[in-house]
Amino acid sequence: MAIAPGPHHVYIARMLDNRPPLPPEIARRRTFAIISHPDAGKTTLTEKFLLYGGAIQMAGQVRAKGEARRTRSDFMQMEKDRGISVSASAMSFDFGKFRFNLVDTPGHSDFSEDTYRTLTAVDAAVMVIDGAKGVESQTRKLFEVCRLRDLPILTFCNKMDREARDTFDIIDEIQENLAIDVTPASWPIGMGRDFLGCYDLLNDRLELMDRADRNKVAETITLEGLDDPRMADHIPPALLEQLREEVEMARELLPKLDPQSVLEGHMTPIWFGSAINSFGVKELMDGIGTYGPEPQIQKASPRSIAPEETKVTGFVFKVQANMDPKHRDRVAFVRMASGHFTRGMKLTHVRTKKPMAITNPVLFLASDRELAEEAWAGDIIGIPNHGQLRIGDTLTEGEMLKVAGIPSFAPELLQTVRAGDPMKAKHLEKALMQFAEEGAAKVFKPMIGSGFIVGVVGALQFEVLGSRIELEYGLPVRFDVSQFTSARWVHGAKDAVEKFINANKQHISYDHDGDVVYLTRLQWDIDRIERDYPDVTLSSTKEMM
Ligand code: GDP
Repeated sequence: MAIAPGPHHVYIARMLDNRPPLPPEIARRRTFAIISHPDAGKTTLTEKFLLYGGAIQMAGQVRAKGEARRTRSDFMQMEKDRGISVSASAMSFDFGKFRFNLVDTPGHSDFSEDTYRTLTAVDAAVMVIDGAKGVESQTRKLFEVCRLRDLPILTFCNKMDREARDTFDIIDEIQENLAIDVTPASWPIGMGRDFLGCYDLLNDRLELMDRADRNKVAETITLEGLDDPRMADHIPPALLEQLREEVEMARELLPKLDPQSVLEGHMTPIWFGSAINSFGVKELMDGIGTYGPEPQIQKASPRSIAPEETKVTGFVFKVQANMDPKHRDRVAFVRMASGHFTRGMKLTHVRTKKPMAITNPVLFLASDRELAEEAWAGDIIGIPNHGQLRIGDTLTEGEMLKVAGIPSFAPELLQTVRAGDPMKAKHLEKALMQFAEEGAAKVFKPMIGSGFIVGVVGALQFEVLGSRIELEYGLPVRFDVSQFTSARWVHGAKDAVEKFINANKQHISYDHDGDVVYLTRLQWDIDRIERDYPDVTLSSTKEMM
């Protein structure tokens, strides 16, 4: 049997579960996303990952995109230049013996379903926090989403070259705020202008930062523990004493690294560093390889899918339309859940039960798109299509499996939308349906009256949507206040739902799948219905087909 290249503790866990070792090509894959509050350094860190992964030659290539996120108009500029934003949606690169698949979470600060769905496609998350700011609102929200799925989380505390908080404070804050055990993988030596580097607690090494060259990998000095006399050659006495004291205290007070607990999502190792100075990034990457999970079992019905299964399965977690406005093509992003995919394979599209030959899949090798000749469980491929593939769709080699857990959330903001030119209403409908399928917004067609109601989770999405409709369909649109503020999907037996519809026509609309939705502005209405119609349920999520 081939020996997989993954870390030791991972095999032990698999053996205990009575699962065979993964094929080496699968075992070496690490598929993850970065979660952070805007400005913490996600883009900078991504860039350094790619630099060490050999995927880009120069730091600065991702930056253009990072800064484009700052303002709406720039964001739209980025959208225009779809090449960049799309190849950045998923990036693959090798690091040592590992293959990393980094899935980008949407950049704008509005929390959106897109973010949630992206996190269904990864096996782990890297949480980046700003050493001066600690846990911020967006970090917390995204963390909670990861926790719903018990995703393992590795933490990078960034910007240690600036005045940062006390190390114990930062660790405490994460522990208290996010209710997760934190174990230091490295310990910072000084901070701000005095920041020298870190003591690597896992490998007993000294990592020294080079301020002169931001793209240079840190100098590493292997030591025999903290009392090694060579420490004094590199660290001034006061800082050295402080380091020894702090590390001693940390070892006494903080939990030890428990790889199993990390894999279960109960413990996060934390690395300190400075992404912009390329410092601490390599250690973090080593950590992702060593302590991060290999491709995981995917929940599906009627049975779960294990990555080692020889048959290929995958599921769509994101659809991006109109990448080229001249051709109405779309790319479906597919997370491979099992098996070894090769180009040209014929897979079954489970929702329609139709075969699909996957002849031109793309693999996102950082700055370029390349034809994917093959892909293994854990990889992300893009499949160009004309709308057959929707979010939540499963592809298999024939078995009727449906990947679970890709929900659609009730929008929190509703507005009516009208075409600037009333003659273009049909065009507008087409555009709206397209965006609804892409998952960019909810679109509701009221049972009575004309026009559409668009629902989103974050206000910025209205602007983005308006601009995209104008840009991609040449159709100026106007959003207006809607009389409704809440939407709920209506479930129940056919008769019960019909009766309910007939009694509440003013409030009924249909989503792009034709499912019944109840719209209202009063929580009171929702409570009343739950009382008056025990046979129907109103739900704020619907699982995507
Ligand atoms: P994002 O919004 O999370 O993608 O953050 P960016 O990577 O765009 O970084 C936000 C700002 O912080 C930029 O001006 C970066 O140059 C800066 N930055 C990122 N990493 C560091 C760091 O390690 N130290 C310092 N001083 N600044 C950093």
